[in-house]
Amino acid sequence: MRIIFTCAAMIALALSAFAHQPQRPQIQTTKVDGTDGVYIFRNGGHQSMFVVTRDGVIATDPIAYGRPTGGQQYIDEIRKVTDKPIKYLIYSHHHFDHAAGGKAFKDAGARIIAHKKVTERLAPLADPHTVLPDETFDGKKVITLGDITLELIYLGLNHSDSNIVMRLPKEKLIFLVDTIPVGTVPGRGMIDIYPLETETFIKDVLALDWERMIPGHPGQPGGRLGTKKDAQDILALMQEASAELKKLGQDGKCWDTAEKEFKLPKYANWPGYENGLPFIARRYCALWGRGT
Ligand SMILES: [Zn+2]
Repeated sequence: MRIIFTCAAMIALALSAFAHQPQRPQIQTTKVDGTDGVYIFRNGGHQSMFVVTRDGVIATDPIAYGRPTGGQQYIDEIRKVTDKPIKYLIYSHHHFDHAAGGKAFKDAGARIIAHKKVTERLAPLADPHTVLPDETFDGKKVITLGDITLELIYLGLNHSDSNIVMRLPKEKLIFLVDTIPVGTVPGRGMIDIYPLETETFIKDVLALDWERMIPGHPGQPGGRLGTKKDAQDILALMQEASAELKKLGQDGKCWDTAEKEFKLPKYANWPGYENGLPFIARRYCALWGRGT
């Protein structure tokens, strides 16, 4: 009886805690503090940036994978802020969870721009939910619209081979998706990351002039924006994980033994630790235990 009572009490406690938590809406648009026209559009656990200028809107990632109406819902959110035309849609990279859903933007007249690897990756896949870019670039491209300048910068391989950094120089803001998680341990995004190149990439990102980073998934805690400290922390985490798995890999312990033995106790309190650890181990085992 005592055990049953304890369980019931725990469930009651859990339910009351749940009842007092404000329910987060599926879709939310937030203006970035201290800017004239920079917004974050969030759909579930994904988010993207859009910029409203006097001559039109620059939107980024439709974030509509598995959300057939997500692209149009994004446009509806933009329409609550402005009736100016949506001139551009920029993809951060080719992964479907960020790039899918662009058709509504294309139909609204937006020109879709991405790094050249996005087209190389997506064209053979012919995903019915993902529209190919109208224009691609390599290196750097600057978009000027109204009074806004947005730089699109390719700094080499990182989370994927198509990820770019979007920088608003006046606002000292960057929008960077997936490569630098904010306040969380990297997870399934590790699966196809370029580990050594990402370390170089993060150093190059740190060398750019910016103060705040909008991530592609809400930062922890509370959906916060990232800082250079977050970038330094992720760089350190990756370097420590890499060094640890280098030992295990070169000792012939990849994959099975290394995946069991690998821990990063320093990060055990970070959100995503338990979930992220196997992905980190597997990716670095591929590097140090396989050579890829
Ligand atoms: Zn990605």
